[in-house]
Amino acid sequence: MKKNAGTAIMLFRRDLRLVDNPALNAALQFENILPVYIDSSAQAKDWALGGASRWWLHHSLISLQKSLREKSTDLLIAQGDRDQNIEKLTSQYDVKAIFWNRLYDARFLESDKKLKIRCRELGLIAESFNGSLLAEPWQVLKSDKTPYMVYTAYWNAFVKTATVRQVETQKGFCPLPKNFKPDLKIENLGFLPRIKWDREFYDHWHPGEQTALKCVDEFLENRISSYDNDRNIPNKNGTSRLSPHLHFGEVSPHQIWQKIVKKYGPIASVKDKDVVQYSKELIWRDFSYYLLFHFPQIDRKPLRKEYENFPWLNDKKGLQAWQRGQTGYPIIDAGMRELWRTGWMHNRVRMIVASFLIKDMLIPWQKGAEWFWDTLVDADLASNTQGWQWTAGSGADAAPYFRIFNPTLQSEKFDTLGQYIKKWVPELENLGSEWIHEPGEAPEAELRAAGIILGKTYPLPIVEHQFAKIRAMKALKVMNEKKK
Ligand code: FAD
Repeated sequence: MKKNAGTAIMLFRRDLRLVDNPALNAALQFENILPVYIDSSAQAKDWALGGASRWWLHHSLISLQKSLREKSTDLLIAQGDRDQNIEKLTSQYDVKAIFWNRLYDARFLESDKKLKIRCRELGLIAESFNGSLLAEPWQVLKSDKTPYMVYTAYWNAFVKTATVRQVETQKGFCPLPKNFKPDLKIENLGFLPRIKWDREFYDHWHPGEQTALKCVDEFLENRISSYDNDRNIPNKNGTSRLSPHLHFGEVSPHQIWQKIVKKYGPIASVKDKDVVQYSKELIWRDFSYYLLFHFPQIDRKPLRKEYENFPWLNDKKGLQAWQRGQTGYPIIDAGMRELWRTGWMHNRVRMIVASFLIKDMLIPWQKGAEWFWDTLVDADLASNTQGWQWTAGSGADAAPYFRIFNPTLQSEKFDTLGQYIKKWVPELENLGSEWIHEPGEAPEAELRAAGIILGKTYPLPIVEHQFAKIRAMKALKVMNEKKK
């Protein structure tokens, strides 16, 4: 097929892959492609990239650049104001078109709209695509055209109405413009930390498209068949661990969906509970983007307005103890230390630690969301916001506020033998499973035999759960009274 003359810019963002990349496929219709990544993080007014995300991004860009070089092309790296950079590249490289995949939070929607207008003023073709969602936020609406607020209703409508696009394979590649001159190196972006807190990340993660695809295949081959049970057990490798790969677009949900449909048939007719549950989790991801798109303020403000009057505590010391995994609740401390050391935390434990911060400690959910934003390799404004608002009871289809997790019971149920706790809280490793969930209740002799001195080698509980539960219910009452 004859290619269009001139150069197309492929603007990579959170779509760091070559396969099933609609914007890249559009750019491939041109004689030359200029693959570009522009780091504008210093210009971010809010939600500047967190430390763990920067780590991932560095390695994902290295991987993308390597794949491009294997195709005899390259990735141009630029830094600073995005639109100024694009204008500069446009005049430098005989650019005729620019393509990108859409991002859905307000920050990007506004600036992308402006970029499109500006490019068209410059006489360029400027087009954006859906690269990252199974359904875009305006595709699944109620009959009155308003958004669904309940997940199950959204899921049912999605299954009935949404058509998931076919994965597009990318054949061949186009050369770089002849006068291509690399500018910055990825290393110059300074994404890696100066203080080496990231050492352990290398044992857990291998960012990049190749690994992402391998992870998908390995999960679908070996582990999806026990997903429904295993997904709640933090000590098991029971979930796909694809969240950072999905966040950075190293794999698209369409690729996963297509593989599922190929193996099990259209989702509406699948009866296998493991497959249905996994598909539902993927749609929770879409639903999170959906909510943030329709209610862009919810990254900072509760969706349910009455929660603006919730009497939170300003407990800096408590917040720090939670962040450092020093609350005296082993399951909480295990989760928070897993997060710090690996940049990830199991979903069940995310719910437990979030509930503890919000309800046992009465610390605003926004503080937790900020910490997760900085420390998660999969930090994602849509999913993080949804996860925190869901736990706080202030979001769409949220867990009611009065459903307060008892951290000890959660721990006994989902980490019965305390294996997860012992992995991340080694000072408790010699304590028997009978006491591991609540060391404060262990007889003195047991503690001594396990080498534990409470308050010294392991903290005493930061707050007593039964007291905290009553306090939380009183706080809820205060909020509800203000509503009247
Ligand atoms: P799997 O169980 O294998 O699920 C497959 C995929 O479905 C995930 O990779 C993810 O993309 C999506 N998914 C699964 N559960 C959810 C969910 N509850 N909400 C939205 N998408 C989901 N997820 C993030 O990707 N980024 C975040 O910043 C984030 N913050 C969270 C904060 C809190 C307080 C809570 C309770 C949850 C948060 N989640 C977040 C959702 C969930 O914990 C992670 O997506 C999941 O643990 C990732 O592990 P996995 O890939 O093995 O998931």
